[in-house]
Amino acid sequence: MKFTSVNPYTQQKINSYPALSAQALDRKIRQADRAFADWSALSLENRLAFFRKVAAYLRSEKQRYGELMTAEMGKTLKESIAEVEKCAVGVDYYIEHAPKFLADLTIPTEARKSFVAYQPLGAVLAIMPWNFPFWQVFRFAVPSLLAGNVGLLKHAANVSGCSLAIEEIFRACDFPTGVFQSLLIESKTVETVLKDARVKAVTLTGSEKAGASVASIAGSQIKKSVLELGGSDALIVLADADLEQAAQVAVQSRMQNAGQSCIAAKRFIVEKTVKKEFTDRVLHHIQAIQQGDPMDEATTMGPVARIDLAEAIESQCAKTVRQGARMLHGNAERNGCNVAPILLDKVKPGMTGFDEETFGPLAVIVEAKDEQDAVKLANQSNYGLGSALWTKDLDRAERLARQIQAGSVFVNSLMRSDPRVPFGGVKLSGFGRELAEVGMKEFLNIKTVWID
Ligand code: NDP
Repeated sequence: MKFTSVNPYTQQKINSYPALSAQALDRKIRQADRAFADWSALSLENRLAFFRKVAAYLRSEKQRYGELMTAEMGKTLKESIAEVEKCAVGVDYYIEHAPKFLADLTIPTEARKSFVAYQPLGAVLAIMPWNFPFWQVFRFAVPSLLAGNVGLLKHAANVSGCSLAIEEIFRACDFPTGVFQSLLIESKTVETVLKDARVKAVTLTGSEKAGASVASIAGSQIKKSVLELGGSDALIVLADADLEQAAQVAVQSRMQNAGQSCIAAKRFIVEKTVKKEFTDRVLHHIQAIQQGDPMDEATTMGPVARIDLAEAIESQCAKTVRQGARMLHGNAERNGCNVAPILLDKVKPGMTGFDEETFGPLAVIVEAKDEQDAVKLANQSNYGLGSALWTKDLDRAERLARQIQAGSVFVNSLMRSDPRVPFGGVKLSGFGRELAEVGMKEFLNIKTVWID
């Protein structure tokens, strides 16, 4: 069995990578287990020193890793380099804050002393997707490893080069053998890994289907899981919003990474009185998108990562149009993985473009009667990951933000993941949180010590 990476823009094969044999997999798990004892016994200051090297290394190698990401999954080189830089910023953040987050917490009680200690669990399996092949991995690995866990990465089959490159980064920064390892395994082998007693917990970013399978295996083993799954984020535009800024950010949110982001604004829900003006402005920004070779500086949108993903978005678009939506922008002729940005108007609940997660450059406009109707439409989704709200009335924004069923609400701003604030969802978007202090504590034993 081999994993083959194919450049989605050229459709040329980049490389093939053999899958791990059962023996090699066992050896890697054994190495992880052994490494945990020494790694978790190091002082935090020692572990921080390794991560200082990682931050510098990422910055010095961003061009090389950026080119690899672009070749394997098609995002523009500019986006890829920015992703490597974001990983370095994530490292900086945890270097600065880990000492505070991991310090014992004294809790005054009637005991002589009572406190909470934060202790690592062991080997954590990370099952990661191809859409942000570096950032998704780093946002798990940095807090987890800094806290003393060790990591095993099962990356998506189409980005094996990135998977091995990330392992190489930890090696180049002199991490002890076994602290971070890439496992080139098929998804069906995940069950064996997760049922191994030396593997203590799992985090998955990906589809609901993968999440449900992995969480049920983890549950059968009484192992902690964190799931960051899909989304169908609403971007609500109320009549008093700055329409130009809202339109520009809406298009950026939906179309960056060729629309392949769990927190892309997938449903633009707009108050009736400003719908025409907002739609015209959105269309203008969509028309300005430059599709092409993702390695070119001038290209602002590359291809989607695989042919099956291009076919899926095309089919969802066609269904939504058959159900009554009106296509304002798009192209009937698809060239391989290059899907032209699509804008659909008159989209309503019950239509595919409203009900399903769309993982590609497809934006839909949904009309709302008023603010309460807008919130109702936003919540009329099985997902609840991110959301955005555009209004100049900030009191109203705060009130409505509390009514939106999502893990995040960004007001007058681009919905994004930022290491300083928690990230994760509700409903079918998953459970648990990444990033910030809570993210660092997902895979720790939060131990109470009570001394009378
Ligand atoms: P998947 O969920 O299939 O893949 C994500 C990761 O999970 C990959 O590493 C994959 O490995 C692994 N995986 C898949 N199935 C299982 C399983 N049963 N057990 C263990 N691991 C598994 O996503 P796809 O690439 O197929 O994309 C399909 C859809 O998923 C997208 O259209 C989008 O809707 C959603 N998605 C959401 C993401 C997000 O950021 N929330 C990211 C990616 C996808 P392998 O590649 O070997 O199958």
